[in-house]
Amino acid sequence: MRPADLLATLVNRGAALALDSDGRLRYHGLPEVLTPDLRQALREHLATLPEVLRRAEVFRAQVRPGQPLPLLCLPGARGAPSGRCPSCGGDLAEGSYRCEPCGEAARLVVGEPPWG
Ligand SMILES: [Zn+2]
Repeated sequence: MRPADLLATLVNRGAALALDSDGRLRYHGLPEVLTPDLRQALREHLATLPEVLRRAEVFRAQVRPGQPLPLLCLPGARGAPSGRCPSCGGDLAEGSYRCEPCGEAARLVVGEPPWG
């Protein structure tokens, strides 16, 4: 299960992971929502999830209803050189258009692209 899938599944079940004011990951929801599979996914992506949530918040603020979808970039990342993540300038995930945290944050904000 990918990080964006975990986050979306929790929301669909009435729970959520969010960052507190110290930037630490906090679970909001009933304990029984966290099934063994979700707990395993949470452990697996624990290091990535805070950054995915931070980037999703930045990307979400860039999306305007009824307007063309923007590139979705972190501040200062616009104009990243070819071969780098266009959203942050970081290393690309293998076979991906973006790095993992940016790709997962973009999936969380706009969903899966129609081409897969
Ligand atoms: Zn990136």
